[in-house]
Amino acid sequence: MNPNLLHNLTWPIAKKRLSECDIALLPVGSTEQHGPQNPLGTDHLIAYALAKEAAQRCDVLCLPVIPFGVSSHHRHFPGTISVSPSSLRSYVRDVLLSLYHNNIRKVVIVNGHGGNLYALLEVARELRESRKVFVAIFQWWHAIKGKYPLEEEGHAAALETSLNLYLHGSLVDRERITDEVPSEGPLGGVNGVYIPWETKDFTKSGVMGVATTATADKGKEVFEIALDQLCLLIAKLRELPLKDLLEEG
Ligand SMILES: [Zn+2]
Repeated sequence: MNPNLLHNLTWPIAKKRLSECDIALLPVGSTEQHGPQNPLGTDHLIAYALAKEAAQRCDVLCLPVIPFGVSSHHRHFPGTISVSPSSLRSYVRDVLLSLYHNNIRKVVIVNGHGGNLYALLEVARELRESRKVFVAIFQWWHAIKGKYPLEEEGHAAALETSLNLYLHGSLVDRERITDEVPSEGPLGGVNGVYIPWETKDFTKSGVMGVATTATADKGKEVFEIALDQLCLLIAKLRELPLKDLLEEG
């Protein structure tokens, strides 16, 4: 029995673990297309793998993963299941408030999907301003930024595919690993514009970048670099006094 996974515990053991662990990790992901080679669960599978391993290394609690996220921009690809930002906000808010009622005041959301970020940040702000829970959001691809070529960083490109090869290689359809340079999209060439973009505006396969350079070894390397940063975040958070995080003035 892994004492760091909340859903494995009985309530008497959870009572003890909640008194020992001051930080909880909440993995959040998506169920959306990740090119012809990667499983739809890529984002939540990676988020959970990172959170589970970090919980063990840093002795904190890991919650079950939230598998659905804000992915409507991928809806033209079969199998994408999305929730609205307001649904994600209220769901995550309720989970965090439950943690609060279990005396957890510091939470790291291990977010596997960039489309969730705005919604998660809003909830994090709300809970800090209400002085209930301090929430930090961790995104692995930002934690490793600059260590690999830019074209490997894109959606379903080499870094995500490598992580899948390392963590759950049997779910990757190796024959179908695809490279696709994303097009400029409908307003390409104009600087400073934000639009409600659709994935299909930029890519036919769902891949944005180079994926054929993916290897399980690269996945292991990416996983370890990201984990180091996640463990550093947990260590720093552990040392910060609650009054600095949640009190006014
Ligand atoms: Zn992804």
